[in-house]
Amino acid sequence: MMAHSNGCPILTVVVPCYNEEEVLVETTLRLSTMLRGLVANKQISSLSTVLYVDDGSNDRTWEYISEFNLKYPEISGLKLARNVGHQNALLAGLLHAKETADCVISIDSDLQDDVEVIPEFISKFKEGNDIVYGVRSDRSTDTLFKRKSAIAFYKVLSWFGVNLVFNHADYRLMSKRALNGLERYREVNLFLRGIVPLIGYKSTEVYYERNKRFAGESKYPLKKMISFALDGVTSFSISPIRFITMIGISFFLLSLITAVYVLVSKFNGNAVSGWPSLMISIWFIGGVQLISLGLIGEYIGKIYKEVKGRPKYTEEIKLDALVLKVDQAQ
Ligand code: UDP
Ligand code: MG
Repeated sequence: MMAHSNGCPILTVVVPCYNEEEVLVETTLRLSTMLRGLVANKQISSLSTVLYVDDGSNDRTWEYISEFNLKYPEISGLKLARNVGHQNALLAGLLHAKETADCVISIDSDLQDDVEVIPEFISKFKEGNDIVYGVRSDRSTDTLFKRKSAIAFYKVLSWFGVNLVFNHADYRLMSKRALNGLERYREVNLFLRGIVPLIGYKSTEVYYERNKRFAGESKYPLKKMISFALDGVTSFSISPIRFITMIGISFFLLSLITAVYVLVSKFNGNAVSGWPSLMISIWFIGGVQLISLGLIGEYIGKIYKEVKGRPKYTEEIKLDALVLKVDQAQ
């Protein structure tokens, strides 16, 4: 199944970087040491590499990467023409890496994800897992705000029917075939954490403690986090649209109740003239409008699903019939 040199899988570690000049020296040192150790122990192939993806940085990130590329035999780099965001930069790296690697680990450049658990990822991969999720066993190094907002994020998403691996960011291992599966998701608004579980295949988790950012600042300010969360919801679910339809139906039913109430008041003679017709029209028209809006939304939701053109399945194994094999051999 694996195309390896000396019987070990080729690993590529993909690291997206945006203005990370302050951390790159240390990150390179740690990743190189780790890879070399694994190669020496015959855990991974000597063709294993690190792929830095420079996401349009405007500091000296690319200079560092080119320098490491000359100095360290296992370091490679990919420079994107402009800043396209973490998820897109990561995808660029993953798709490049899968051309040569048997398995790919994605990791942030700021050393928040613990490099020391890479051997665990590799052994889980060798046990036959195509996807290994890195899960934070403890978030105490995150700020209270980041922790709380992360919990809220998972809650909101699961209300809308989007199920993510809890406390897993983008530290994960994927096999070549899982990445081939990922490549078939051609959507523009990319939310990898949501897509990867949809691919299928055997998966497992590896636990690690999340460190503080080694240096520099988070590239995910509140504004980006909110837009990330909104992307998560709107890329995976059309429940917000269905919500409008539900309100519409409720209003419509309420309008019928109101009508009965208003008419009873009118016949009992305690309604100001003009009030009954006004009340009935407002509720009735409001209900009809919201239902129509929801209905239009349902169609938009369908169109949205169609244009994403997501694959309907991912193939795992195919056994050829013996008669065919015999036929081919002749
Ligand atoms: N990153 C990127 N492009 C961006 C923003 C971030 O490639 O537009 C990279 C960044 O260099 C880091 C990773 O994505 O390696 C995660 O970003 P960060 O550490 O700032 O996010 P946080 O850990 O605070 O959520
Ligand atoms: Mg970080």
